[in-house]
Amino acid sequence: MKIVGTIAEMRALCRSAKSGGKRLGLVPTMGALHEGHLSLVRAAKEKTDVIATSIFVNPTQFGPTEDFSRYPRALEKDCAILWREGVEFVFAPAVEEMYPAGAVTWVTVGGLSDRLCGKSRPGHFRGVATVVAKLFHIIEPDAAFFGQKDAAQHAIIRKMVRDLDMPVAIEVCPIVREADGLALSSRNAYLNAEERKSALVLYRSLQCAQELFRTGERNSAKLIAAARQEFASESNVRLDYFEIVNPDSLEPVLDTSSPSLAAVAAYVGNTRLIDNIVLGA
Ligand code: AMP
Repeated sequence: MKIVGTIAEMRALCRSAKSGGKRLGLVPTMGALHEGHLSLVRAAKEKTDVIATSIFVNPTQFGPTEDFSRYPRALEKDCAILWREGVEFVFAPAVEEMYPAGAVTWVTVGGLSDRLCGKSRPGHFRGVATVVAKLFHIIEPDAAFFGQKDAAQHAIIRKMVRDLDMPVAIEVCPIVREADGLALSSRNAYLNAEERKSALVLYRSLQCAQELFRTGERNSAKLIAAARQEFASESNVRLDYFEIVNPDSLEPVLDTSSPSLAAVAAYVGNTRLIDNIVLGA
């Protein structure tokens, strides 16, 4: 396994890996790897011949008051894990390599970038789309693997790829959860024992909407109202949003007769967590 820090070397290695007709799979991450990330690596292994993983805590997707500087970083441990998984290339560039002084070009996916987390994290999805577009240009993967955990992110990437004719297949993998339902996230490491318990309210709220949906309720406002009730008893959790949207356009839907994305974001103490479920999938 090669750990690569420069764009030039990564591009050359990936081109030569593909030259014999092999299919290259990319798994983009911010590191501090967990089983959710590894499920993407394993999916890549099934569908492609050579796997590249990027580990880059991307500063442009963090707001000025967010956790960029304290985001968990564990490059050595991550590389040991990826080596065991059979990954060929780890791309771990420095910030200055990805954003040399004077870089001013951005990718903004109109409309979608301002929905769900984009509302409370202005500029977040512009940072995500820009860095993923750069990774696609550097690595030129045949397929890239994303988690359903970040449902808005993959909707935005799918739209970007379509609109800009990028020759890469976007594969989406299911959410990996702890036994009690909490979605795995690198940010779960911030939670103390009490917050860890409170964090379950995100999944509970989604299950509540899903239960009501199962009994036949299709009215989004009613599903949202019931789900929001779950937060009433959690004093150290602040709900950011609970929305039901179209999974592709991320526009709110009034009625959930076709498959709809129920998405939630909340601050548990100071830690912002997200989760989602597709109703009617
Ligand atoms: P991150 O390192 O948080 O930027 O995530 C990198 C990729 O892993 C993204 O495509 C995420 O959607 C995916 N991912 C993160 N957590 C999970 C999870 N619990 N299950 C499945 N995929 C995940």
